[in-house]
Amino acid sequence: MAYRVPRAFPVTVVGSYPKMPEALEAIKLRKKGVIGEEEFHERVKPAIRSVVEDYLEAGVDIISDGEQSREDMVVYFAERIQGYEIGDWVRVFDNEYFRKPVVTARLEYVAPMAVMDWEYAQSISQGRPVKAIITGPYTMADWSFDLHYGDRRELVLELAKVLRREIEEFVRRGAQYIQVDEPALPARPRKEEAELVKEALEILFKGVEAKKIIHICYGRIEKLIPYILEFPVDQVDFEFKNSDFKLLPYLKEYGFDKELGYGVIDVHSTRVETVDEIVADVERLMKLDILPPEKIYLDPDCGLKRLPREIAKAKLKNLAEAARRLRKAYGYED
Ligand SMILES: [Zn+2]
Repeated sequence: MAYRVPRAFPVTVVGSYPKMPEALEAIKLRKKGVIGEEEFHERVKPAIRSVVEDYLEAGVDIISDGEQSREDMVVYFAERIQGYEIGDWVRVFDNEYFRKPVVTARLEYVAPMAVMDWEYAQSISQGRPVKAIITGPYTMADWSFDLHYGDRRELVLELAKVLRREIEEFVRRGAQYIQVDEPALPARPRKEEAELVKEALEILFKGVEAKKIIHICYGRIEKLIPYILEFPVDQVDFEFKNSDFKLLPYLKEYGFDKELGYGVIDVHSTRVETVDEIVADVERLMKLDILPPEKIYLDPDCGLKRLPREIAKAKLKNLAEAARRLRKAYGYED
């Protein structure tokens, strides 16, 4: 069944959703070694089904699998890439301990990591596209401890090569939206770092035929916008609500012209934004006259995993209602 994504102000999500009990249980059993990878993903399915049902009821146009399998966005992938070891607490310096995944050998792609959950979500989404979402190589490298490459740039680019294989698996199965999450970039908001991310994205996305998205959240990224505009992506997704839209004037200043994932839901607050409030927050962007409604995707600031399920769903419902109202106001039929 084909679903037509609205032309203006499509509603989407960044990725994670509150964990369902079946997912928590499956993660626990997987960690204990009681179940293998295949049974793990089988047991997560009811959790994904609940997430998809919530999205459909709320009215989200481009959904996700809710990242139900992922206890941690970096460890999840590290556990499935050859060359990584997930130690217990690793002593790095005298008094510094990391529970970071450790790179101990050359990194190699083994098998699909996140594709199975995506595929299941897609099979029950009633035609709505499901975003394929992976943690980006820059963030993977940043939150890992490297005992093998000894060079951060090399590690990032090697990770990009491995993760590209996963993107190819997604595209082969028909994914139309591919999102790479790079929340670590704002920790070092410098030109050289943005250029390293760009280099990695070129490896990830070269020749990939799907909508290419990068999600970056929090921190001081305003000065990075000119470099981000050079990234080989179609869409950039930013958090706005939590930082009171301080990024807006910079979009104008630097002539932002890519599609924008406009984060208008605060994922750190249990207060449910009203429809009026969301409409007004979108109007703040429209007033700047930077982008047409076709290039504005509405979503929460970041993943919803920290919120209670009912709150997350209520926020999405109001977001979808605000999008409907905005479409009408701007003369779009769908
Ligand atoms: Zn985020």
